[in-house]
Amino acid sequence: MPGLFNADVLTGTRRLFYAVTPNETSFENLEDVPDYFYEAIPFFGLLALLEMIVTIADKKVRERFFLPDSISSLTAGMLLLLTQFLSHGVNIGFYVWVHENYRLATLAWDSPWTWIICFVLVDLGYYWMHRMSHEVNIFWAAHQVHHSSEEYNLTTALRQSICQRFVSWMFYLPLAFAIPPPIFMMHQQFNTLYQFWIHTRVIKSLGPLEYILNTPSHHRVHHGRNRYCIDKNYAGTLIIWDRMFGTFEPESEPVVFGLVHPLESYNPLYTQYCHYKYILETAWNMPGLTNKLWVFLKGPGWMPGLPRQGSIEDIPDIHYPMPKYRPRLPHWSHVYIIIHFAVIFYVYDAFMTSLKTLSQTATICGMTYIIFSLTCLGAINDAKPAAPFLEVFRSCLVLVAEAVAISYLPIMQRGSSQLVFYILRLVFGLSVVVWLPKCVSVLTQRKNKAE
Ligand SMILES: [Zn+2]
Ligand SMILES: [Zn+2]
Repeated sequence: MPGLFNADVLTGTRRLFYAVTPNETSFENLEDVPDYFYEAIPFFGLLALLEMIVTIADKKVRERFFLPDSISSLTAGMLLLLTQFLSHGVNIGFYVWVHENYRLATLAWDSPWTWIICFVLVDLGYYWMHRMSHEVNIFWAAHQVHHSSEEYNLTTALRQSICQRFVSWMFYLPLAFAIPPPIFMMHQQFNTLYQFWIHTRVIKSLGPLEYILNTPSHHRVHHGRNRYCIDKNYAGTLIIWDRMFGTFEPESEPVVFGLVHPLESYNPLYTQYCHYKYILETAWNMPGLTNKLWVFLKGPGWMPGLPRQGSIEDIPDIHYPMPKYRPRLPHWSHVYIIIHFAVIFYVYDAFMTSLKTLSQTATICGMTYIIFSLTCLGAINDAKPAAPFLEVFRSCLVLVAEAVAISYLPIMQRGSSQLVFYILRLVFGLSVVVWLPKCVSVLTQRKNKAE
C-alpha cells in the first residue's frame, strides 16, 4: 500500500476530474498501476475543505452538513479500503484469467486508441452495473449503502459498500476479451474518482457540459427520493448512456436526498448488512417458491401483483422541509468525535501503509480495533445508551495495550513514538473520565425505571 502523499497538488487534483493523458496513465504490467484511489485521499480532503468554505460563505452549513452523517460516510469509505484485499482476486483475478485464456484481440497497452476505447467501455460497463444495482434487489442490498445518507456533500461520495465489488466485476468482464488488464484497472479507478466531485450542492449547473458529462445536478437527481428521481441518471462519467437508454431525468423540484425508507442509523456494520437481512426476512415470509426467488431478483419495491420494479405510487410523498435523522447530541460530543476519529484515522493510515509487512495476527488485531472503534463512534452518534460503556471499554483496552507495548517493545520508548504514546494516554485517559459518569447516570436511570 503506497503512502498518502505520492502525487503533487496539481496532479492529484487533475486525477479527481479524469483530466489525465494516456501517456501518464498507461502501464504494461498490472503491478505498475498506482493505487490512484488511496493516493487521492488528501485531495478528497482538499476539495471537501473548499466545499465547506463555500458552504460557510453561503450560510448553509446546518442545512447541508451534519457531522455524524459525514463521519458515517467517511467510515464506510475506510471500511471499503480496509477490506480491499478480500476482493482483489475477485475483481481483477477473473479479468486477468479471461484475458489470458480467452481474449479475441490483443490491443496495444501503449496505444491512445486502447486508452480511449477502454474509457468508453468502462463507463458503459459502469452504467449497466449501476442500473442493475438499483433494479435487482440482491444487488441493491450492497448499493443502498451509498444512498443511505440524507445529506448530499463530498463526504457522501465516500459512503461505499464493502460488498458492491463482489457484484461489479462481472459487468466489466466482456472488456477482458480485448483490453489489457492494466489499462482496465487504471480506467476503473479513474471512473470511480471522477464521481467524487459530482456529490455536491455547491455547483448548480455546468451549461453545455450538462449534455455530455455526468454533473452534480444530474447526480443529485440520482440520489433523490422524490418520485421523479427514482431509478434515474445511472451514469458514471458520461450522461449520454442515460439519454440513450431512457433513464435520464433533469433536475427540477428541490431534491430530497436519501433512501425512500431512511435507515436512521450510524452503525457502520448495520448500514452494510441491513438490506440483506431485510431480503432474507421478506423471502422467508413470502408464500411460494417462485415469489421467494423474485424477492432476490426483482426490484427492491416489488411485491406479488406489482410490475418488476414495483409501483411508483408506493414511493412516499415529499413534504418540504422533510425531517432528517439527526439525533440530539451535546456540543462536546462533536469535539470528542472529531478528536477520536482523527486518532482512528492516524492508526488506520499507519496500518494501511504497513499492511504488507504485518503478521496475520497483527492484521486481524488492527482490523478488529479499527472496525470496533468506528462502530463505537457510530453508537455515540446514534445516542445509544450503550455508547458510554463501549467507550470506557475501548479506552481502557487502548490504555492497557499501550502499557504493554511500551514495556515490551524498546523501540516504543524512544523519540516520536514516545510522544505519540503520551498523547494517546492523555486522550484515552480523559475519555474514561468523560464517560464513567455517563455510565453511572445510565445505570441510575435504569434502576429508577425498574423501581
Ligand atoms: Zn446509485
Ligand atoms: Zn452517488
